[in-house]
Amino acid sequence: VIGDALDGTLADERGVPLEGRRGEHDRLRSAGYDDLSWGRLFEGHVNALQLIGRLGDDAQRRRARADVESGLLFGVWNTEPADGVRIVGADEGGITLTGRKTFASGAGRVMRACITAAWPDDSPQLAVVPMDRVTVVVDPSFWKPYGMHDSDSFAVDFAGVRLDRGDLLGAPGDYARGPWLMAGASRFVAVQTGGLEQLAADFGAFIRRRDQHDDALQLSRLGESMVDVRTAVLWTDACVRAWAAYDEVPDTERESDLLVTVDAARSAVERAALAVAERVERGAGARGLLESEPFARRLRDLRMYLRQPATDATVLRVARSALGTRAVR
Ligand SMILES: Cc1cc2nc3c(=O)[nH]c(=O)nc-3n(C[C@H](O)[C@H](O)[C@H](O)COP(=O)(O)OP(=O)(O)OC[C@H]3O[C@@H](n4cnc5c(N)ncnc54)[C@H](O)[C@@H]3O)c2cc1C
Repeated sequence: VIGDALDGTLADERGVPLEGRRGEHDRLRSAGYDDLSWGRLFEGHVNALQLIGRLGDDAQRRRARADVESGLLFGVWNTEPADGVRIVGADEGGITLTGRKTFASGAGRVMRACITAAWPDDSPQLAVVPMDRVTVVVDPSFWKPYGMHDSDSFAVDFAGVRLDRGDLLGAPGDYARGPWLMAGASRFVAVQTGGLEQLAADFGAFIRRRDQHDDALQLSRLGESMVDVRTAVLWTDACVRAWAAYDEVPDTERESDLLVTVDAARSAVERAALAVAERVERGAGARGLLESEPFARRLRDLRMYLRQPATDATVLRVARSALGTRAVR
């Protein structure tokens, strides 16, 4: 039970956060600033509630509201290995699952997991699994990561799990529908931006502590890092504006603008973060990279969390868009 941190995280029937896009992204940024692993969990929670808001029926929305009010954490577990989750039996009462998810962040803490499960014809079905009602096998040995250790992104085996029809969310294929899946990446962009702001703030504090105010090399490292941080913040803001415009008028032009803005933001924030990470490594030096300082863990967390699906493919889409008629704002 996470409690107050989850207040205001519900979404309306279009999947728009009740606190608005600005509030949503600000909170994601601030979660990333506090701790990237917490930011990862919070992002999954918000994502799940947007899916339930948009795809759920009245009963599912009511249930989600009650669950959030009692402080239950939600998550979205889509990533899977070759033996991913499949539906092996279905009758009027419900369905039976087999197979595993990997990178299931918050396994053990997430009480409502939105998962994808493939029907026999391979079409993916979303379901909200009440983790306190079913028996799964959680495998923490999967998670020996470079960073983001505290996100507990374990493997989870759903073999034999029985779900009610009322646990199924939306129609087959709904999870991947545009622009929500691709543009939803703006949420992790916001979390990454918060992590980047935090890293630069720590680096500034380190320079002050070491009395290196007049060291030109340290100052230029910090100055360039602040420019990169500002870049990440501006791109997160651009995502907020593109989402708000699409929410107001969901036409194809605004949808394309939203998609290309989020793709560009993913690429820009990844580059900014890698550049800051390299400068902080150099500037903090070996002493700064001892585990008694904050940098080692934060750098590992940031570099790990930057590894999102096919980040480098985002620039291909931005390029294709530029060759068409649409401008990148
Ligand atoms: C800390 C952490 C927590 C996570 N938590 C969750 C979670 O709770 N739920 C969840 O569902 N997922 C989660 N994930 C998984 C995440 O969403 C991505 O699926 C995953 O990080 C992408 O993995 P990857 O980098 O190995 O794969 P890829 O996206 O495959 O990238 C690896 C490389 O392969 C290249 N590549 C990819 N596809 C192709 C292709 N077709 N042809 C050629 N090259 C290609 C890419 O360009 C990239 O360079 C988490 C990941 C992390 C790091």
